[in-house]
Parts: sequence; structure tokens; C-alpha cells
Amino acid sequence: MTAHEPLSLAGRDQPATSPDRLRPPRRATVSVDVGGVLVGSAHPIVVQSMTNTDTADADATAIQVAQLAHAGSQLVRITVNNEPAAAAVPEIIRKIRGLGVDVPVIGDFHYNGHLLLERYPETAAALAKYRINPGNVGAKRHDEHFQTIVRIAIDNGKPVRIGVNWGSLDQALLTELMEANARVAEPRDSRDVLIDAMLASAMRSAELAEATGLGHDQIIISAKVSGVRDLIDVYRRLALLSDYPLHLGLTEAGMAMKGIVSSTAGLAVLLNEGIGDTIRVSLTPEPGAGRELEVEVAQQVLQSMGLRSFLPQVSACPGCGRTTSVFFQVMAQEIQTYLKDQMPMWQSRHPGVEEMRVAVMGCVVNGPGESKHADIGISLPGTFEEPVAPVFIDGRLDRTLRGDGLVEEFKRILDDYVDQRFPEQSAVPG
Ligand code: SF4
Repeated sequence: MTAHEPLSLAGRDQPATSPDRLRPPRRATVSVDVGGVLVGSAHPIVVQSMTNTDTADADATAIQVAQLAHAGSQLVRITVNNEPAAAAVPEIIRKIRGLGVDVPVIGDFHYNGHLLLERYPETAAALAKYRINPGNVGAKRHDEHFQTIVRIAIDNGKPVRIGVNWGSLDQALLTELMEANARVAEPRDSRDVLIDAMLASAMRSAELAEATGLGHDQIIISAKVSGVRDLIDVYRRLALLSDYPLHLGLTEAGMAMKGIVSSTAGLAVLLNEGIGDTIRVSLTPEPGAGRELEVEVAQQVLQSMGLRSFLPQVSACPGCGRTTSVFFQVMAQEIQTYLKDQMPMWQSRHPGVEEMRVAVMGCVVNGPGESKHADIGISLPGTFEEPVAPVFIDGRLDRTLRGDGLVEEFKRILDDYVDQRFPEQSAVPG
């Protein structure tokens, strides 16, 4: 038996986790190596994020890169927008490596990337990938500037992301397509032509990069828009055009609830169709807040869809008139926090623990049933119910808790379960 198999399915109506057959097949892509992180359909979907510090401030940027990496960001992008920023990159990377953080750092270039990468060869060598926006490499000498960046990528053995954004679309290309559309008998909607222009910009740029000498497996594509249905439309079409890995994200998603819901709505549809090899949830943070929330949301999207596992999941009922105290809400929150706090230690010692499912339920109506579907669950007594709390382990009633100290007792049961079900790495046979 592996650590991932349930100890027993007896008493269960179904396994604790969704079967793999429900996992959508990924759109087939080549694999791109971004500083040791492999991106493509043969690999888990990669979570990435971006700093919002002044890159020229090497200390602040290195700290934020490390924070994002600790939160689970597997790639971190930093803006490289001017000479002080370009000059700071090697120092930033030395600092984060000094903190024991090995996350690959990506440079985001607009307008002057060709100049900065030429002038700062140490920066070109230190970055794991360059993001090029083909709409922002200059109108007059567009191809020349684009090819300069690509040649530097080739010389340094780096991949690039061709990142089209409808807020900064190649205007010459858009004008060309709009004019061609105006000449046909039945012109298409300008929104459709805009999307055509985004796709053409991405694909022509990839073609030019390969013609310049960049490897087919050194290109990742993105085409970001800020509307959910537009995003789905763009990526569905983009997915059919090549086997380059795709970076997904809703651009300018916004703040808090709006940003989270919009991003999730767009990403979920595409991921469920097997589209997307790396994702970013672009959230506008609250003033003064860190950036880690966007990483947590991206992880939660992937975990909710059964695509990756990062943290044991707690199922809790919403509560209703059958629970007139907030005890079960408090308990659900405490257990969730406990699981999160334990993860740094559990992760290294108990492989597979991130797939554990825990249920904390408010009353007898759905409590025992939901608890049986989880790996470990507790059904608390609702109002007027007998003050006992049955605990289910692997689908079977294991014991019944009563009295004060339920939460602490349940945490101890959780610890024991993790020890037994996800044995320490050294104890795993083979
Ligand atoms: S499990 Fe019980 S308390 Fe929770 S929502 Fe259902 S009926 Fe209400």
C-alpha cells in the first residue's frame, strides 16, 4: 500500500478524493525548462506570481520574491523597466539565493528590453526567462528589437514568454487586420478582429523567434485579456494553433472578491478543458498588503479542481438554523488554521499529506455522510441534538467525542492519522 491509498474503503460510499478519470486530459505541449521548473503538459501546472516592489530596491524585491516563493510561487516575475532595475537584478538573485530560496526569477520587459539586456549581460545571464510583449518592442524597428532580445535569450540559453496583452496590442498589426476586415463584403465584429490580432501577434512573434534561432521548446505563449468570456475565447483558439505551453491569467482582474471570482471563473473553464500549463492570478492587493494571496488563490483553484494538491482541504457545511451556536464555525476555522500551520513540517515528513480531506460538519443531517466521504471527519451536535461528536476515519465510525476540549482532541486524532496514513519518508518502503 502506498501513502496515497486509503487504509480502508469499508463504510465509504466513494473514495475521499475524485478519481483520476475525472481529471481533464491536458492539451499536448512541448516542455519548456524555466530555470529548472518544467512547464508543459507532461508536468504539473505551475503557479507563478509577480512582485510589485521597485526592482531597483534590491532588498525589498529580494524579500518579496522570497515571500512569494515561500507562499508556493514556483516562478516569480519582476519588472525590469529601467537601468537601475536592470543593474539590481544580479544582486536580487544573490540575495534570494543567500536566503536559501531557489525560485527561478523572470524578467518582464517592455519598450527597452533590447537595450537593457544588451547593456546588462550579467542580468541577462541571471534571469531564468524573459517575458517579451510584442506590442511593446517599438513600432518602427519592431522586428529588430524583438530579435535582439531573442538573440540574447539564445546566447544565454534562456526561454522566453511571448506575452500578448490586449491593453498593449501591436498597433500596426491591429490596423492591418482592421483595414483588411473593412475591405471584405461582410466585415466581422471589431472585437473578433481584435482577438484575431492578439492571436496573430503571438503566433507571428513565435515564428520570428524560431526563425531567429530560438528552440521550439524555449517558447511559452500568453494572450491576456480582462474579460472572462474573452479570456476563454482567446485561449480556446490559441490552444488550437500550436503546441507551445500556455501561460494563463486574467489580466487586470481587480481587487479582493471581484478579482478572485473573475480569475477563478475564467481559469476554471480553461483548465477543465486541459488548457493551461502555468497560471497567475493577477490580484490588486489591498494597500499595504503582501502579494501572497494571489499565490494562495492560484493554488486553491488548482486544488479545488483536483489538478494539484497543496494543502489538506477542510469541508465544512455552511450552517443553518440547526446550529444556533458558532462553535462549529470556530472549530472549522481552527482546524483549517491548524492544518496550514502544520504543513511546513508535515510536508517534509509526511509525503502525500496535502491530499488529505477533513470534514467539520454542523449537525447530524449531513455530518456523518460528509465525514464518511472525507479521510477524517467530525460531525458536531446541532441544537437539541445529543451533545456527542462522532469521528469518522476512512469512512468508518472510529470513536465519539463528548464534553469540552473537542477541538484539541480532534487535532490529536488528526496528528495520529497523519503519522499512520502518511508515514515519515524514511519509513516508506522502497
Ligand atoms: S449539516 Fe446540519 S447544520 Fe450543516 S447545513 Fe446541513 S443541516 Fe445545517
